[in-house]
Amino acid sequence: MESDRHPANSDSTAIPPVVIVGGGFAGLYTALSLAESRRHPPILLIEPQERFLFLPLLYELLSGELRRWEIAPRYDALLAGKGVGWLQDRVDRIDASQRHVHTAAGRSLPYRRLVIASGGCPEFFGVPGADIHSLGFRTLDDVERLQQLLEKLRRSARPLQRLAVVGAGPTGVELACKLADLAQGCAVIELIEQGPTLLPQARAFSREQAEKALRQRDVRLRTHTAVTRVDADRLHLCCRSAPEGDGLQPAPEELLPIDGVIWTAGLSFRPPLISPDPRRDRRGRLCCQADLSLVDQPAIFVAGDLAHLEGPDGDPLPGTAQVAFQQAPLLAANLLHSLADEPLETFQWKDLGEMLSLGQGDACLTASGLTLAGPAAFRLRQLAYLSRMPGLAHTLRVAAGWLADWKP
Ligand SMILES: Cc1cc2nc3c(=O)[nH]c(=O)nc-3n(C[C@H](O)[C@H](O)[C@H](O)COP(=O)(O)OP(=O)(O)OC[C@H]3O[C@@H](n4cnc5c(N)ncnc54)[C@H](O)[C@@H]3O)c2cc1C
Repeated sequence: MESDRHPANSDSTAIPPVVIVGGGFAGLYTALSLAESRRHPPILLIEPQERFLFLPLLYELLSGELRRWEIAPRYDALLAGKGVGWLQDRVDRIDASQRHVHTAAGRSLPYRRLVIASGGCPEFFGVPGADIHSLGFRTLDDVERLQQLLEKLRRSARPLQRLAVVGAGPTGVELACKLADLAQGCAVIELIEQGPTLLPQARAFSREQAEKALRQRDVRLRTHTAVTRVDADRLHLCCRSAPEGDGLQPAPEELLPIDGVIWTAGLSFRPPLISPDPRRDRRGRLCCQADLSLVDQPAIFVAGDLAHLEGPDGDPLPGTAQVAFQQAPLLAANLLHSLADEPLETFQWKDLGEMLSLGQGDACLTASGLTLAGPAAFRLRQLAYLSRMPGLAHTLRVAAGWLADWKP
């Protein structure tokens, strides 16, 4: 294995571990993949949350179609007996020259190789009030708050109750469909998008199915509409209508009364402070090489949403679980290569298609030339995600639960 002894560790007999910062799709699956190797080094996962969250199935947790333990297994259960240590803490600072991470709880820990996979956080684009008055949709707490709000709206049932979802990317569209089903007519769902269309990156079939699902549920889609301010009970909107001439003209501001707003409009990136400061893109993502190592820092690797890595068309790869999931085994292999002073492999992204949850019991998918929508797509989507659950033991537990619930 590795021969490079770092000065920071020279007086210690213990071998510093491979440290993985963040236990999301990129970090957790890299740790599990690395632990499968018979010659794996000590592995330490640093993650502040108690539970891993399978984000693509968060809509089904909101609707009660899936249970909390299924999509949010505890790290201690997932990692038991796997040879991966888990530290429930947050990394604040990385000293790349000393090869140490510093945590919020005041620990200073050496590493031999480091993986930064701390993902992103909601971006409010400086819109006043957005961070104070909006709900998010990324955590178990977000789901609980949204369930409480829905319950309140169903119980009070005043006329013209309204929920607004800001951002018509996949999360906004999927959430709007689920909310419309759950509101059971007690609230109008508004989906607000500043661009010209919903799902700008999606395939035509997915967009058509999403439009159909929104129409069927009376979700009001407003495109060309920017939220300029969020108050507790209303949104300030700037609608830009297409004029006869060229370009879009701003129209007067509109006020939209709301009973709640869910912000799904973007992600920003605030990884731990790193010295020396590495190269980032304009959104704050860390620029890495095709082998997932950080530019100029061969002992540090980046994966998942936080990694800026160009695809074959020169555009950065999308921030999806699918990309993170594919990066994990390659990164695990490269960590071993790097420790053994072997050449590293390059990451090749393979687009496996896309799936959207479109309300209760409804979904669409496109993969390998196949397109499918409706209840069959909903079931297939769940099965596809079952095969992506972390660890065999958890996968089997979830499968057993679904089989027990199955009514032919
Ligand atoms: C509601 C929703 C639905 C989605 N649906 C899909 C889908 O259908 N298909 C798809 O491909 N993608 C989907 N995505 C996107 C996908 O979930 C992300 O691309 C994926 O989670 C990225 O993985 P990651 O490991 O980079 O980051 P994350 O999953 O965000 O994990 C980052 C982890 O790092 C931890 N962390 C953060 N800061 C620190 C720190 N300083 N120290 C230690 N730990 C830290 C966090 O607690 C978190 O656990 C969805 C996202 C959302 C929000």
